[in-house]
This record gives sequence, structure tokens and C-alpha cells, in this order.
Amino acid sequence: MNHPKPGLSVPEAVRAGVPTVWCNPHVCPAAEVLSTLRLQWSDVQAAQARWRRFAPLLAKLFPELRSSGGLIDSALLEPKQSFARAVLGGEGRLLVKADHDLPVTGCIKARGGVYEVLWYAERVAEAFGLLDDFASLADPVWSERFARHTVVVGSTGNLGFSVGVMARALGFAAEVHMSSDAKAWKKDRLRRIGVNVVEHEADYTAAVAAARSSAATRPKCHFVDDETSEQLFLGYATAAIDLQAQLEAAGIAVDIERPLLVYLPCGVGGAPGGITFGLKHVFGDTVRCVFVEPVESPCMLVQLASGSDASVSVYDIGRTNQTVQDGLAVASASLFAAGVVRHLIDGIVTVSDADSLEWVRRAWSEAGLKLEPSAASALAAVASWVRASPSTGRRTDIVWTTGGGLLPDDVFLELLNDLPAGTIRS
Ligand SMILES: *Cc1c(COP(=O)(O)O)cnc(C)c1O
Repeated sequence: MNHPKPGLSVPEAVRAGVPTVWCNPHVCPAAEVLSTLRLQWSDVQAAQARWRRFAPLLAKLFPELRSSGGLIDSALLEPKQSFARAVLGGEGRLLVKADHDLPVTGCIKARGGVYEVLWYAERVAEAFGLLDDFASLADPVWSERFARHTVVVGSTGNLGFSVGVMARALGFAAEVHMSSDAKAWKKDRLRRIGVNVVEHEADYTAAVAAARSSAATRPKCHFVDDETSEQLFLGYATAAIDLQAQLEAAGIAVDIERPLLVYLPCGVGGAPGGITFGLKHVFGDTVRCVFVEPVESPCMLVQLASGSDASVSVYDIGRTNQTVQDGLAVASASLFAAGVVRHLIDGIVTVSDADSLEWVRRAWSEAGLKLEPSAASALAAVASWVRASPSTGRRTDIVWTTGGGLLPDDVFLELLNDLPAGTIRS
């Protein structure tokens, strides 16, 4: 039983679980907001430099990264006009930032999770006196050293996979605490690469808490804290630099007459928060960021709309946190991420499971994009946002498709056919 709390200024439609467009009344000029934050642009640049230091190592460990020289980025796609029109609900230019196809993990967590494991590996290596030649970290002498360390994380599935893959590739022990939303195939996939999977009959917030206490007392252990980690956040933030280069290469001008609108699926808030932070540094007020959440898990919306500094949960307003958009099944937002985006995002759109699944199907049949429901929600949000917000002239709308590329075929077929999980056996 949920006991909705009165008094929080959350729109009635959000409480009722009806798809809603929430315009952020607290949005302020980017420069003003960014100057007040602890993290600065120099932190993003340092993160970008770390990605580059580690690129030769990544190219060595993951053959699929050889063609990019070890850099992890996705394509910026332009779907055909008929699909764009359907997504936009009218004319305009639509681009897809295809993180569902990111190498190594097939989801946006490659940016945050992989990055934080590299950051930790660098700290461990520094203690042994390593200063350059990062590619040598693939040598057995290093995996033996790393094997004495454990990387721990709590996850609904995708972060656990990204952290697990990177940790195991270097030789770290890895322990992933999975919430009850985590799909069986996601757990199996982790066990196959030698990750210790700890299952919890509880939600994401509880799985993260269990992971945190498991890590707290152990030596040689690093906890990847999805709720507070600045390293994860910075790993995501560097995506803004990649996008800027792609827009330039495509000859797409961004200025006050031609703003970017970027739609970002939001779970705990780290990924969309980090990317918003990076984009606001790069594009200032010429970029507008819109978050997308499931109607049953609008944790960032309730956190920001409530105006509270204490954590507010979707259970407090009577929602269930039960959703097929499993990557977004989070009841309480990261207060760290909420604090960063409070004055930076333009608003939040909530999406029903039915609409999200409809766009999984349409993305596949009309644009050849293999998306999981969490990612397809961004497509479902665009037309509602465009309808509700005042015209912004010649916009470019960018949908950030955050995952799905590595869904097993039988799981994807079930989504396409809207069947209960486990119906189709491969
Ligand atoms: C994790 C995830 C998100 C959201 O990231 P948060 O950091 O949890 O806000 C969005 N889409 C997919 C597919 C994800 O796995």
C-alpha cells in the first residue's frame, strides 16, 4: 500500500499516472547556474583526457573498438522524413543520438560505468607507479594485481553490465546487486563473464543500498555509486563534446534562432544529468534539455516539482514504480543529479508503457532502430513536448536513444509482439 503524501506541489495528472508535460518553472540562464556548481568544465576536459589516455587499452581489450582507436561513441543518425514527421507530430529536423548502439555495452551506461572503472583502475595502477603506457594494463601482470580488488555496483541491469564488462576485462572481481526489475537474461549475461550477481527482491534504491553496505567494510573495494558518483557523471558529460563535433561535421548550426532540443530518458538522473551538464557548458542557452520518465516512475519530476531538498519518492505520490521501461524504474532520484539539473532543464515528459512499446515497434519497423522501452520513451515524448511548449522557430530535435542494441532476439521479439516476458524461447 502506498500512502500518498499531501502538500507536495506535484501536478494532479502526475499523481494520477497520466502522461504529462511538466515545464520547469525554475529554469535559469545556463551561465548563471553553471558558475554556482562544484563541478566545472575543467572536470569534463579532464575526463575527456582520461578517455584518450585509455583509448589504446580499450582498443586492445575490445576488438570492436579498433576502428575508432578505442573511443566509445555512437553515430548521430538522421531518420527518413516520414519517421521524423511521425515523431515530431509535424515538420522539422529530427536527429537520433544512437547510444543504443554504443560499442561494448549497447547502452548509454558505457559512458558512465566504463569510465568509472577506468578511473579506479588508474588509481590502483598509480599506487604501483604506472605513469604512462596505459595499454600495458591489459598484460597479465596487471590483471593479477587487479584481481585482488572488487568493483561493486547496484543496478536495474544496464549499469551492472557496463561496470561488470569493464571490470572483468581488466581482471577485477565484480559484484553486481540487482533489483527485482532486472531481467533474468541480464543476470545470466553477467554470470557468464564471471560477475558475482546478488539478487534482491526489492527495488533499485534498495539494491544500491545493499551494494553500498556490502562494499563499505571491505578493503580493496570500489563502490560505483549511481546516486552520488561524480566520476560516473563526468563520464556521461563528455558525450557533449562528441555531439558537438558531430553537429559541426554535419554542418548543423546551433544558435539562439536554431536551438537544439535534446530528449533524455531519466532513471536516477546521472546519465541525463551528466549529459545536460556537458551540453549546457558547450551550447549554453542554445540547447534545451527535456527529460523523459515513465508515468509510474517520475522520480526526477516529483523531486524537482516538490522543491524539496530532502528525497521524495514516487511512492509518496501514489505511483508504483512498476514499468516495462526497466532502465528507468527508479523511485527516488539522485539528489546530486537533481541539484545539478534543477535550474538547467526545460521540463520533463512522462510516458506510458503502452506508448513506449508502440515506439519500440515503430522505431524498428520504420527506422530500423533496435531500442529497449527505456530508450523508445524518448521518441514517445517529442510530439507532446513540441505541442505543449511555445514555438522555438527552426529547432533541431535530438532524441537520445539510450539502449537496446544488445537485447537478445527472443526478448526483442516479445517486445515487438507485446507478449509477456518469457513467451518466446530461442
Ligand atoms: C540507465 C539508463 C537510463 C537513465 O540513466 P540514469 O542515470 O539512471 O538516469 C536511460 N536509458 C537506459 C536504457 C538506461 O539503461
